[in-house]
Amino acid sequence: PAADLDTDAQVRANDRGHVFHSWSAQALIDPLPVAGGAGSTFWDYAGNSYLDFSSQLVNLNLGHQHPDLVAAIQEQAGRLATIQPALANDVRGDLARRISEVAPEGFSKVFFTNGGADANENAVRMARLVTGKRKVLSMYRSYHGNTSTAITLTGDPRRWANEPADGSVAHFFGPYAYRSAFHSSSPEQEAERALEHLEQTIVLEGASTIGAIILETVVGTNGVLIPPPGYLPGVRALCDKYGIVMIADEVMVGFGRVGEWFAFQAFDVVPDLITFAKGINSGYVPLGGVVISDRIASHFDTVSFPGGLTYSGHPLACAAGVATFEVFQRDGILERVRDLGDRVVAPRLAAMAAKHPSIGEVRGMGLFWAIELVRDRETREPLVPFNAAGADAAPVAAVAAACKKAGLWPFTHFNRVHVAPPLVITEDELVRGLDIIDAALDVADEYVS
Ligand code: PLP
Repeated sequence: PAADLDTDAQVRANDRGHVFHSWSAQALIDPLPVAGGAGSTFWDYAGNSYLDFSSQLVNLNLGHQHPDLVAAIQEQAGRLATIQPALANDVRGDLARRISEVAPEGFSKVFFTNGGADANENAVRMARLVTGKRKVLSMYRSYHGNTSTAITLTGDPRRWANEPADGSVAHFFGPYAYRSAFHSSSPEQEAERALEHLEQTIVLEGASTIGAIILETVVGTNGVLIPPPGYLPGVRALCDKYGIVMIADEVMVGFGRVGEWFAFQAFDVVPDLITFAKGINSGYVPLGGVVISDRIASHFDTVSFPGGLTYSGHPLACAAGVATFEVFQRDGILERVRDLGDRVVAPRLAAMAAKHPSIGEVRGMGLFWAIELVRDRETREPLVPFNAAGADAAPVAAVAAACKKAGLWPFTHFNRVHVAPPLVITEDELVRGLDIIDAALDVADEYVS
């Protein structure tokens, strides 16, 4: 793309003067003005383009400007741009039916929201109303959104400054074999001990007070933590034993990220409520929702559900969702994600781990991977501390800068680099991106003691 420095300056001036940004000290940021994007690439006004290995916020599953999604939104805008949620609408119903068809047996209904946080808010609301129990358990090392209950459920530093927003939340440790909270020495032992810990938490918090357990099926931003065999079925069994609703937060991993419609489908478990957003329509128009098991949905057959949103099931968002289903099915997206993950990413990351002393562990599935960086492989001391900022975060910031300089937009979080490109990335682009990360990790190796 040609440089256009006048527009660059104008966009910067409006942004710096008037846009208040998420999660930031406003005077300490310098957002990159973006001129456009196509497929797995976006570009700035200075003539640089970036291979998008973060899919923006791990939502852009079908890439920038997918022609089918753009056409569906345009067509819908020409037909009926909006309609309120109490009326029935063709695309809204079409999308809800398609979602229930790829969900497990017995999930007929979908409640649409604007995004992931309010999907989780409403799932928790349903669980509380159905069980008559208010407390919710969630994991440390998790993210569930930034509204009041969702941020309280969150198990990372983004919760800290917002406390206490919802007094009825308690946290537990999930499985994380590489940094086990349970001193376990195998994935099986990690699952077993994590389940013992969860059961003790339930007993000590009081099963009679707990309405729901919410967890990310595969923990996303907090580390691409794949549950060890048996863990999720074990959580299901505890929920059944103690009369607790199991909520799977599929906001980041649903709709193809790990090669499944819903990630839990790879783990032999069926939750009671499924929350989704992001990949449902690649974020072209904000959309999220809750897929509701018939048992829970039927509670509201004759009792009014006390929740709603002006834009619930917005036709433009739903039209992009319907187009997403058509593309996934026509282009075999789930199969391609599994294939690229197994055949291209897994072996390449294993080779990088063998070569770079800064890599402590690589893990993932489909097109969702983490490279965990350490100063010392023996002690597993993270390359940067938990919640590192400023000078403490410099080593990972240097890796990110090297990626950007080479034309790749990375996803980094604390001591990790994640690999989360659009699911439509070509194999050549994928290999080129992995080449860039491989080279950038030379920078991390310099910090190894
Ligand atoms: N849940 C998970 C697992 C997420 O990754 C996110 C966003 O990153 C959310 C919930 C919140 O979604 P939203 O930002 O659409 O509210």
